[in-house]
Amino acid sequence: MELSTYKIKIEGTVQGVGFRPFIYGLATRFLLHGTVLNGAQGVEIVVNASSENLQNFIDTIRIELPPLAHIDRIETNKIPFHTYTGFHIITTENEGETTVRIPPDVSICHQCEVELFDPKNRRFGYPFITCTYCGVRYSIIEHLPYDRVHTSMKFFKMCDICKSEYMDPLDRRYHAQPIGCWDCGPQLNLMDNTGVSLGTRQDDMVEQTANLLKNGKIVAIKGVGGYHLMCDATNAEAVAKLRKRKCRPSKPFAVMVKDINIARELGEISQKEETLLSSKERPIVIVQMKRKLATDIAPNMSKIGLFLPYTPLHLLLLDTLDCPLVATSANVTDEPICTHLKDLEKLQGVYDYVLEHDRKIVNGCDDSVVMVVKEKQILLRRARGYAPVSLQLPFVLSNKILALGANQKNTIAIGFQNQVILSPHIGDLNSIGSVEYYEKNIETLKRMYDFKPEVIAYDMHPHYESTKVAFQIAAKDEKIKTNEVQHHYAHILGVMAEKQVMGKVLGVAFDGTGYGEDGTLWGGEFMVCDYEGFERIAHVNYFKLLGGSKAIKEPRRVALSLLFDLYGEKTLLLDNHTTKSFSNVELKTYYLSWEKGLNAPLSSSIGRLFDAVASLLGVCQVMSFEGESGMMLEELYDKSVVGHYTFGYEKGLIDILPLIKEMLVEDDVVVAISKFFHTLVEIIVMVSKAYDLPLVLSGGVFQNRILLALVLERFPEALISYTIPPNDGGISLGQVVASA
Ligand code: ZN
Ligand code: ZN
Ligand code: FE
Repeated sequence: MELSTYKIKIEGTVQGVGFRPFIYGLATRFLLHGTVLNGAQGVEIVVNASSENLQNFIDTIRIELPPLAHIDRIETNKIPFHTYTGFHIITTENEGETTVRIPPDVSICHQCEVELFDPKNRRFGYPFITCTYCGVRYSIIEHLPYDRVHTSMKFFKMCDICKSEYMDPLDRRYHAQPIGCWDCGPQLNLMDNTGVSLGTRQDDMVEQTANLLKNGKIVAIKGVGGYHLMCDATNAEAVAKLRKRKCRPSKPFAVMVKDINIARELGEISQKEETLLSSKERPIVIVQMKRKLATDIAPNMSKIGLFLPYTPLHLLLLDTLDCPLVATSANVTDEPICTHLKDLEKLQGVYDYVLEHDRKIVNGCDDSVVMVVKEKQILLRRARGYAPVSLQLPFVLSNKILALGANQKNTIAIGFQNQVILSPHIGDLNSIGSVEYYEKNIETLKRMYDFKPEVIAYDMHPHYESTKVAFQIAAKDEKIKTNEVQHHYAHILGVMAEKQVMGKVLGVAFDGTGYGEDGTLWGGEFMVCDYEGFERIAHVNYFKLLGGSKAIKEPRRVALSLLFDLYGEKTLLLDNHTTKSFSNVELKTYYLSWEKGLNAPLSSSIGRLFDAVASLLGVCQVMSFEGESGMMLEELYDKSVVGHYTFGYEKGLIDILPLIKEMLVEDDVVVAISKFFHTLVEIIVMVSKAYDLPLVLSGGVFQNRILLALVLERFPEALISYTIPPNDGGISLGQVVASA
């Protein structure tokens, strides 16, 4: 057997996931001599091997891959012969363009969980136990390559035992950057809300916290990507107190439960939902409620967001407590999640105690939220566990593109070569704090990937904060090109890119709002799209949003506007849920603004149509959180109702007024709502008839599980994204693609 020297380059998620020790073990098994190292583009292996042995070695790498690793590409080249003795792991080189993926934060692994509860283990009860296969990653990384000195673990000097585990290629903790123990790793600190510590003993802090929670206290607990506000989910008083203090009257809270058995007691859980709940990403999964907790977790809703403990600290707490916990992100309304103790000052008066630890959160990251529709996973918020993610495009980008996303549920993305890196959910850009957090995220992503954009892609909306930031960045460097992208085209492109669709599609963008090319607010759009551009072939006939942005929070304003469209001034004499919610003076004022078109922008949005229906049927007049009207309509849908309402369709204009008119004389609310859902499906059927193209669904309205299920029943082949959210979280990916 003739030996040659080969260089094997492996790209993908191959750092911080136990890849080098895995290669070390494999090389030893195959009796190969050579080296392995972490480069900026991935892992590089050099070996002396026969061509046959080399092939077996590479095949086995693919087959036996460590659990958190993912390979995008393996490149093998013969290089000048060199004799190696033994196999060695060599320390990180840091050069070249960074294309390595940043591993996301994942939940504690099974082996660590066993050790956590093993009294004989030296990390028994240690709230930060971790290994190469689990724990924090993205949230502690300052920059690449992923080494301890580039993370917030650099402040903890490993003790001798931890160090020897870290240095041993055959240990599960070999080069596991976040490892530590009672002696050398991060420590807890329990404080009251004035900052006074409640104790100095590490080993009873979890128990003390559990007692406080048991006694109805609200505790801010530092997690992976930020703080949670937690309280006993079975304690009605505690939950009501949290709602009151957080000024959050009705938006559902997520609940963390000890294990899958408790989850099954509270929710109807399908196989797919169970897999998601128990996955290493541990998202919040929205499921059908089976047993109502005696508290206002999700007022008027039959769904509940559940998730399982994902850190050793959560496991210890829930093990001590034996009751489910409300776990909601600690943030002020419209502000990003708190990641530092000093951020919590803004929440003074909301929490009673803080359970703090001294491992710094470098990158904030919320919990992810998922639902399952027709056994398909739909991500509603892509964050911890899933982000950042690298997606492969079906083509190569000629420029380096930075896409800034939209204004709601913002994410950003960078694109280079045939890759797009998508940030975690950043949130709504409605406050100074959130815009600062947004700008910090842009800097972080650029720094981590050593990325200098050549093109900035942004939404067409002139007043979006993201648009303003785009111009600020472009103003600093005249070489940077800018590209404005229509919102709904970006929605559809995001799905096309994820699905690697080539050719033309019929995109259905049912959305809240998005700035249209004619300056109106689109959101009920049918567009024939490919990567070159789009043609808007049909849309909902415009109606007026009385009061502009106020109409977005008040369904009754949209409903009133549609009534004016139907009945003009006679509307003032009508007696229905919508008109009753206004005073006579208000009705007259709005009539004038409708007539004159004052502060009444035009819209074709299906999201707003949902609002109007909710108001007309007396379900919701003013919303306390985004999406509330749609969720309430979902609750009232009855699948045994048949039939739909009339709508007009001529020359690409969808007339929804006949629908409204028929709905107004319907006696039964449930029948009306069910027929409304059916009508939306019929609209898609009608418009798509003339186009023999793949159907692509996107836009925030497709977060409505009833509508999505009905559309997928009718169009089982319709494409919807699984890895990016249908809401504006997917916009930045589409913007990259539009700028290719
Ligand atoms: Zn582990
Ligand atoms: Zn140690
Ligand atoms: Fe949108």
